[in-house]
Amino acid sequence: MKRSIQSLFYIMFLFLLSASCSELKTAEHKSDYEGKRLKVCASIIPFSDFAERIGGDLVEVSTIIPPGANPHVFEPSPDKLIRFSEADVFICAGAGFEFWKDKFVDSSANDSLTIVELTDGISLLDGEDKKHKSVSGDVEHSSGNPHVWLSPAIASELVQKIERAFSSKDPKNAGVYRKNTEKFLEELDELDKICRREISSFKTKKFLSQHSVWPYFAREYGLEEVGNIEKFPGKEPSPAEIKDLIETAKSKDVKVIFTDAQFSRKAAEAIAEDGSLKIAVLDAIGSQEDTSYIDMMKRNLNAMSEVMKY
Ligand SMILES: [Zn+2]
Repeated sequence: MKRSIQSLFYIMFLFLLSASCSELKTAEHKSDYEGKRLKVCASIIPFSDFAERIGGDLVEVSTIIPPGANPHVFEPSPDKLIRFSEADVFICAGAGFEFWKDKFVDSSANDSLTIVELTDGISLLDGEDKKHKSVSGDVEHSSGNPHVWLSPAIASELVQKIERAFSSKDPKNAGVYRKNTEKFLEELDELDKICRREISSFKTKKFLSQHSVWPYFAREYGLEEVGNIEKFPGKEPSPAEIKDLIETAKSKDVKVIFTDAQFSRKAAEAIAEDGSLKIAVLDAIGSQEDTSYIDMMKRNLNAMSEVMKY
């Protein structure tokens, strides 16, 4: 029932949209960006930050998933379609992370939209959340773990991918995009050095995580993800699974749980209490509209330090 009301809403919305869109397209010359800002949509805040750092004043960026929402289950409302229909570039993780993407892109009827799938061309790790599907269970993509942006080294590749998309859309400003990117790459390199230095002094390197968010970061800096609390994002573990995780933590001498700021931490807290583990609350997707990726990662590093450097 709920579903059919939703579809009805979609159809009505599409009708209105197609009417307003055709007007827009004739009023503006979409192929000419001179004096006009590139319209960029990004699925999550860190990608918006990348876009703003690279594009500066030349881009107008909006984020689809609001701060505090769990991206694995959050499905944007149809009114976000307007952003897709007007956007020049859409930046997403891909690999099934934005399970709603195809529907939105198709519905937006925007032929000139350039889609930048950041995981594209990156060799992806498997993980507990290889099947990144919504809790309702009706979407299933399984092309690997999508959380690549949380390795600063990989982030450097991602921003260059975005730079290439901006430059091909707007070649006149390619020089500006290059300059901004170079500056940002230096900062990412500095972030990488800070992580490396700080983590080398951690007394413990093992962790359990709420869901498999940190494997790329762990691989980069020699941390070890021993297990995940949620088999796929948003799915609470059973009492038996909680018991197993406590046993695993004991037998493998794991002292730390990484949790997600945007998810319920009930199961993690139960495991922490029974197994005497410490919790680090980490943020993978930005907690505020204007969260900078570099600040977010520094806060994550500090939260890890507090429980791993003792
Ligand atoms: Zn995730």
